[in-house]
Amino acid sequence: MRLDDEQESTSFEDRSGGGGGRGFGFPMGGGGLNLGGGKIGCGGLVILIIIALVFGLDSFGGGQLSTPAPQSQTQAPSTQAGPDGSTINPQLRSTILKVLGSTERRWSDIFQANGQSYEKPVLVFYTDNDQSGCGAAQAAMGPFYCPADHRIYLDVSFFDELANRFGAKGDFAGAYVIAHEVGHHVQTITGTAERVHAERARASRAQGNALQVRMELQADCYAGVWAANDKNLMEPGDMEEGLTAANAIGDDTLQKAAGQRPVPESFTHGTSAQRMKWLKRGLETGDPAQCDTFSGAI
Ligand SMILES: [Zn+2]
Repeated sequence: MRLDDEQESTSFEDRSGGGGGRGFGFPMGGGGLNLGGGKIGCGGLVILIIIALVFGLDSFGGGQLSTPAPQSQTQAPSTQAGPDGSTINPQLRSTILKVLGSTERRWSDIFQANGQSYEKPVLVFYTDNDQSGCGAAQAAMGPFYCPADHRIYLDVSFFDELANRFGAKGDFAGAYVIAHEVGHHVQTITGTAERVHAERARASRAQGNALQVRMELQADCYAGVWAANDKNLMEPGDMEEGLTAANAIGDDTLQKAAGQRPVPESFTHGTSAQRMKWLKRGLETGDPAQCDTFSGAI
């Protein structure tokens, strides 16, 4: 992944080091958009990164996930607070903010081409326990997007551990994590998230899960659309890296890895094959209109 030419995003709050960042209220409070409780967690991505950290992303393809998952990822050595109070590895923070900056530019262009303007999300780096517009944000929860306050929450202790990986082999997999969360933001500002939320409220549990799967697959597709529109970004091997990642975090693969028989009704993110298919769709077309995961077969 090539990020040299990218500007860092300035749309972030660094609450690491307990400084409380730039201080803001939560104006929407979960009620404004009628999306209360709509926190979109992306557990599979977290598990992927943990596994990648321990075993190396390249060391597992499909079917090699039988190695027991590591117990925890919480012992990130806290770096000393920098001049601005941040405890995040500066290089890692820079890389994450460049990826975010790139998503802002690409999505702005895409929205503009459709006569619309793109409203950026805010990325929040947090440590330990914090509050989001969607409720508690807990350490090691992994990245999630909160539709109520338009913020992406990144647990610093978790991302700190990525420092050695990001910028090296697993870099596109890391960017995919961020771009996927940005995909949820796009779903929110285009109204898709609210529509799906309303539909889920009327649906059975199984139907609700099925809708959630379609949401997640669209976020995967949008992640691909971002990467495809950044002409300088992709290097040889990046696409494979992303697909390997998508393959590793399918619900069926994760359930099998946990020693369970896959139960399709319980899927919330889609199978490995589906996740690869939709990420690839985005990567190959670069067109969000091709990311309609809501009609027809997935
Ligand atoms: Zn997600």
